[in-house]
Amino acid sequence: MKEGWEAIIGMEIHAQLATATKIFCGCAVETGGEPNSNTCPVCLGLPGALPVLNRRVVELGARAALSLGLVVQETSVFSRKNYFYPDLPKGYQISQYDKPFSANGHLTIMTSERDEQGRAVDWQPMTIHVQRMHLEEDAGKNVHEGLPEVDKYSYVDLNRAGTPLGEIVTSPDFRTSWQAYDYVNHVRRVLQWVGASDADMEKGNLRCEANVSVRKIGETAFRNKAELKNLNSVRFMQKAIEYEIERQIDAHEKGEPVNQETRLWDEKNNQTRVMRSKEDAHDYRYFPEPDLQPLVVTAEFIEQVKREMPELPDAMRDRFMEVYALTYADASQLVADRELADYFETTARRTTNPKLSANWILGELTRELNNSGKAIGESLVSAEDLAELIRTVASGAINNNQGKEVLIEMFATGKPAAHVIREKGFEQVSDQAAIEKIVDEVIASNAGQAEAYRNGKETLFGFFVGQVMKASQGKANPKIVNELLKTKL
Ligand SMILES: [Zn+2]
Repeated sequence: MKEGWEAIIGMEIHAQLATATKIFCGCAVETGGEPNSNTCPVCLGLPGALPVLNRRVVELGARAALSLGLVVQETSVFSRKNYFYPDLPKGYQISQYDKPFSANGHLTIMTSERDEQGRAVDWQPMTIHVQRMHLEEDAGKNVHEGLPEVDKYSYVDLNRAGTPLGEIVTSPDFRTSWQAYDYVNHVRRVLQWVGASDADMEKGNLRCEANVSVRKIGETAFRNKAELKNLNSVRFMQKAIEYEIERQIDAHEKGEPVNQETRLWDEKNNQTRVMRSKEDAHDYRYFPEPDLQPLVVTAEFIEQVKREMPELPDAMRDRFMEVYALTYADASQLVADRELADYFETTARRTTNPKLSANWILGELTRELNNSGKAIGESLVSAEDLAELIRTVASGAINNNQGKEVLIEMFATGKPAAHVIREKGFEQVSDQAAIEKIVDEVIASNAGQAEAYRNGKETLFGFFVGQVMKASQGKANPKIVNELLKTKL
């Protein structure tokens, strides 16, 4: 960022709550169905139809709120947000306004600036003020492609109308695009972790908007901001914010106007462009929804939700460091994904060697996963199978490099470790008598070197180890070879 300037960024995230049915009716929430097949009088907005709040929305909303450090309010109120648009058949959206479902959250995330290769340079904790998460219904969709005579007609698909959303709004706390990037990733991960949302940006069940303005360092007032939309991935969002910061600073310095407006990210040209200009505040003429009672959430309900929630990633990371003596970096990587974290715990319990288990999972196994583009849940190597392999390597029955080769084969075929070891002929000879025979032969046929070793040329020890390993075709247990050579020489 140009010297003397700072960016002010606030984030809004719409997360689709992972319910089976819509927020105010029993219609299924699913994508890819026949247009307008999942609809009923309520979500079509037919006169006289009455909304009934889906209890599951409140449960998942509470999970989401608690995982983001928000306080669930005892009483919240649904309001009508009035605007006219073809994909909104009622002429208003049922949302929440002055009494949201949850408020006043303090969320600690880890964030870092990135170097030119995009690598994190210095992870630091940062506390974000999450102002609120309220509950609302999604609108339908206008369809402008893939249907007959789209140049003449607009189509409306109301399957999405009434899908439950949590809208998560932060204070303008972010100063860089990477902070916003790390925040959105944090939110995605915890929402998935607690099962509140699939939080998949590509599928559109997590959508984010960034409000970006800039000001001279030392200024206290805010300048005009741009609202960035159409951000289909976290990476595009980061690039759009970065572009917008430079664009605004440049305009201010040239004395050109920076308008309060909504801008879209144009990924082809790597720039933002105007979607619509915006007055200071839209008049949505909010008023309480007369067809719904205020939502009252009891302390017992919250306690119940808390009991059903899994341990959160940050708590799990701290526990991994304390109980398993892992480093901060290893523990953080393991809790990046709940399945990976569970996989680690199962492996660590079975090997009783957490550090070695973490090394294998974050090293060899992760490399195989990355190379094949698989998630941990798709791995053919179960935690139990990996634990067996790690135990075999730790016992010295096969060496580390053989272990790595065995894992690659296990990963490709799903065969258990013992099976692959046998197939590859890696079973080590740990039979004392058999190895002793080879050791004796090697010493006898290298009498000169043996003499030199005894006279103090200790570097020759490695030579003898090598000769014995070679004679055993690499199968002799190196520990036993070392011990025997020391005694015999
Ligand atoms: Zn419906």
